[in-house]
Amino acid sequence: MTNPRAFIIGHPVAHSRSPMLHGYWLKRYGIAGSYELADVRPDELGDFFATYRESGWLGGNVTVPHKLAVIPYLDRIDDAATTMGAVNTIWWEGDELVGGNTDAIGFLGNLDELVPGWDREARAAVIIGAGGAARAAAYGLKTRGLSVDLCNRTVSRAKELATHFGGMSGHGLDALPELLGKADLLVNATSLGMLGNDPLKVELSMLKDGAIVYDVIYVPLETRLLKDAKARGHRTVDGLGMLLHQGVHGFRHWFGQTPEVTEELRAMIVEDIRAKTPGA
Ligand code: NDP
Repeated sequence: MTNPRAFIIGHPVAHSRSPMLHGYWLKRYGIAGSYELADVRPDELGDFFATYRESGWLGGNVTVPHKLAVIPYLDRIDDAATTMGAVNTIWWEGDELVGGNTDAIGFLGNLDELVPGWDREARAAVIIGAGGAARAAAYGLKTRGLSVDLCNRTVSRAKELATHFGGMSGHGLDALPELLGKADLLVNATSLGMLGNDPLKVELSMLKDGAIVYDVIYVPLETRLLKDAKARGHRTVDGLGMLLHQGVHGFRHWFGQTPEVTEELRAMIVEDIRAKTPGA
């Protein structure tokens, strides 16, 4: 029998940190399997799935530009992927090839790890952004029963997303001052604050005392938003754990082991980010 194999398909994929993440877990649990980069052009996607079974793939991750394109090749997609309109993980369930989306699991897993019990008292969240990361955050927070307000530069996108999820409201960024006062959790899900971009400017003096501030950005690890929030006494959550926790679900499906997000793993990825990104 050949060793179990999992993949990440995308184009390009060379920059992905997923092989480092899953490679770490394979080694840690002594599993003689592999996690391989599969650079698949859009016009090669059909061939990839035509030879899927004979290639012995247990499953894998899906990244840009295939997150929607893989859907016709799958037998089923789960609720998260249906709601988010994108697949990032594939696995077998019996004879069925299933597509899921683990970004919301990653978003919540990180929060659960860094602020255990946060959702016992949190009722209201404000998410800034209306792209893919905001979608994952909104979906995750909805499953935990929070009321969610979405604020975005392009108001129509925030309103569309709010309507898509139902029971949420969409606003422009000008609504932030008013919303911050009742927020138990503030999430930056924009690309502002990322190395090379402008910082996100939020009037933190308006934020409810005791609110948690979560930034999905992980380069740099501590954004200006998190630095300022920490200085004001808020508990903060950076984006690296979201990246690490989104991999847990896939690894468990493929290799039958629920992997742990350890300090050692975090340190390894931080070192890699710093080595490849001067200034991070
Ligand atoms: P999208 O391109 O889908 O969305 C970008 C969002 O940022 C939009 O809401 C956009 O607003 C907003 N935005 C961009 N520039 C500005 C600006 N100058 N002023 C105000 N708003 C702005 O990106 P994603 O959602 O996929 O990713 C967002 C960030 O999250 C990225 O930095 C990414 O690295 C990070 N991320 C982190 C993950 C993790 O695991 N930690 C996972 C996924 C993403 P508008 O709609 O008006 O354009």
